[in-house]
Amino acid sequence: MQHIFDIIIIGGGPAGYTAAMYASRAGLDCVVVERLSPGGQMALTDVIDNYPGFDEGIDGFDLGMKMLNQAERFGAKTEYAEVTAVDFAGEIKKVCTTAGEFLSKTVVIATGANPRKIGLENEDKFAGKGVHYCAHCDGRFYKDKTVVVLGGGNTAVEDALYLSRMAQKVYIVHRRDKFRATDIYVKRLEKAENVEIVFNNTVTEIIADEKLTGVKIKNTDNAQVETINCDGLFVSIGRNPATGFLNNSVKLDNGGYILADESTKTDVAGVFAVGDVRAKALRQVVTAVADGAVAVHFAEEFLK
Ligand code: NAP
Repeated sequence: MQHIFDIIIIGGGPAGYTAAMYASRAGLDCVVVERLSPGGQMALTDVIDNYPGFDEGIDGFDLGMKMLNQAERFGAKTEYAEVTAVDFAGEIKKVCTTAGEFLSKTVVIATGANPRKIGLENEDKFAGKGVHYCAHCDGRFYKDKTVVVLGGGNTAVEDALYLSRMAQKVYIVHRRDKFRATDIYVKRLEKAENVEIVFNNTVTEIIADEKLTGVKIKNTDNAQVETINCDGLFVSIGRNPATGFLNNSVKLDNGGYILADESTKTDVAGVFAVGDVRAKALRQVVTAVADGAVAVHFAEEFLK
């Protein structure tokens, strides 16, 4: 007889390991299936200083390890494998991975969302050190400095507004002649005195030696290239939720995020979505961990 878990948690970021901690602490038989290493997106962040309890801030990788260790203290196990497919049709759910097939009564999906990258040569090298994907996480390092925000959606415009409160100067570079963002945010942005809007341009090069000193932008109409001297680049061009492996077994929104409300329940009974992969307003470590706890509460209710 193949083993049947109470809960399989797919993804070992903050939402996943919080679910693992709550589940194992409640005496449920659970396993986390993680592709690489714990921490998710958080592990790529140098300093997390908006997670309560760490008054000096904490390295994102270290916080991921702490969450793993805490879950393991209560008996949670991790299987390092990639999930390739799922089958949620029956009462017992199947999770197919590169390490074989797992069976479970409930599943918590915690696979997160990866920031879309521009695809520039040295973008990865300076990620977290001049090139950033989360203004709310890393903006405070740019107090009284000059930053460039790339993008024209709600996130980019909100990021530019947020950064304008601490940076000396903010350029927002967008490849079209008008924002995609909601009017109310755009109007606020237009009023911000230290924000310069650069339409019809995109960032084509990161200028850096030891640290980032500027970006090259290229006009989308006439191909003219200019340099903006700056200290940081915030890439706000959307995110890709990691939901491809689900093959439509749960309902997604138009952006590919899993539709589940604050209860974290998806449209499939016994399947929950937590953290950044869930359609939600604020994607932060603090909201991810809350989801993890909530999912286990409702999973326990389902199991009973
Ligand atoms: P988004 O709406 O998809 O906008 C992405 C932006 O980045 C677009 O302006 C797009 O340009 C640009 N872009 C994409 N790829 C690019 C590239 N390679 N180079 C340069 N520019 C590129 O993403 P989002 O702003 O992250 O928002 C995601 C969803 O969350 C949206 O539905 C948004 O409304 C929602 N959201 C809501 C709020 C709120 O209501 N407060 C806040 C944040 C986000 P184009 O315009 O040319 O496509």
